[in-house]
Amino acid sequence: MSTTAATPTDTATTTTPATPATTATPTDAAPPTAPKAPPAASPATTRWAHPTSLAEALAELAVPGSVPAAGCTQLAFALADPRRRPGRLVALGGVPELSAIQQMNWADGRGTVVLGAAVTHARVAADADLRAAVPLLGDVFSRVGNVRVRSVATVGGVLAGAVYAWDPPTVLHALDARVRLDGPNGRRTVAVEDFYPAAGTTVIEPGELLTSVEIDVPPPGTVSRYLTLKTRSAEDSSALGVAAVLGFDPSGVCVRARLALGSATDRPVTFADLDALLLGEGPGSTSAKAVADGYADRVTCVDDLRAGAAYRVEMVRVYVRRAIAAAYEAGAA
Ligand SMILES: Cc1cc2nc3c(=O)[nH]c(=O)nc-3n(C[C@H](O)[C@H](O)[C@H](O)COP(=O)(O)OP(=O)(O)OC[C@H]3O[C@@H](n4cnc5c(N)ncnc54)[C@H](O)[C@@H]3O)c2cc1C
Repeated sequence: MSTTAATPTDTATTTTPATPATTATPTDAAPPTAPKAPPAASPATTRWAHPTSLAEALAELAVPGSVPAAGCTQLAFALADPRRRPGRLVALGGVPELSAIQQMNWADGRGTVVLGAAVTHARVAADADLRAAVPLLGDVFSRVGNVRVRSVATVGGVLAGAVYAWDPPTVLHALDARVRLDGPNGRRTVAVEDFYPAAGTTVIEPGELLTSVEIDVPPPGTVSRYLTLKTRSAEDSSALGVAAVLGFDPSGVCVRARLALGSATDRPVTFADLDALLLGEGPGSTSAKAVADGYADRVTCVDDLRAGAAYRVEMVRVYVRRAIAAAYEAGAA
């Protein structure tokens, strides 16, 4: 991770290219999953554009029928299906503006990390400075799928894919992360909390690209944990994920609390009023059960092959309590 002294006005302009990713991206060669020979009645084969700057990428995206392509671990399924195959893909792997991991250090002592959209999960997981600044990032990105997936799947793809079962959106929601979008009408920033207006959709407008994700470095005394329930293979997405980001004062009293729950719901959710019950509580917190029960009572869980909705609700009760307990335990250590 490169570190930059920053003023609050330069967040939008200081992205610099990182060392080129060592793993293959769609820019390096053919798509990871080469499309099968289409049946006679299928649409035309997919065409690829390989922009080498953000401006070029946005121009390519303006061509009708174009879709952004990052690690292609989700797009591969569409590429293999003649009925869903995109007509034109814009490869993001060769765009340097999307490839940096940076830390901005503000004059008032705060810090913000900025992950370029094309940064792979493996790079997030392997970055020691990033792990020191925001440990939960390395934790969640090191647990996605398997090493083959993490080598090519990207920060932008895991957010833009809008699949409820995926883990990083829940953690980014708990960390109060923000997404930067660039498009024909300029740049805007959207909180991850507001990024999914409905199940399976994002606020990304046609022609826009998710370009980076910003996460404020949690203040000293912050402890975070991400607990998952897996019901199928270890490399499968979670049936439930609970992130707890708690801040403690030197005497072990909780002074900041934010939980997020995902993979069991159609998008990540937080109930701030329930989180607030933890404030002012020291070791031996008696509110953890009330918070966990509150989440279980309010949440609407999805029903799918990983788990039924009713089972998930009961697991919410268990895993929220466990995540809080784990954070308290670490906070007391
Ligand atoms: C075997 C396997 C196991 C997995 N296990 C897990 C798991 O345990 N936990 C988990 O969380 N996930 C898991 N996943 C899902 C994985 O996290 C996603 O497939 C991956 O993160 C998608 O990222 P990508 O870069 O490959 O996206 P792509 O497939 O390239 O793109 C996904 C979507 O996002 C769009 N897109 C990509 N980048 C941008 C951008 N910058 N701006 C706008 N739109 C963009 C694309 O157009 C496409 O619609 C697994 C996947 C596989 C194949």
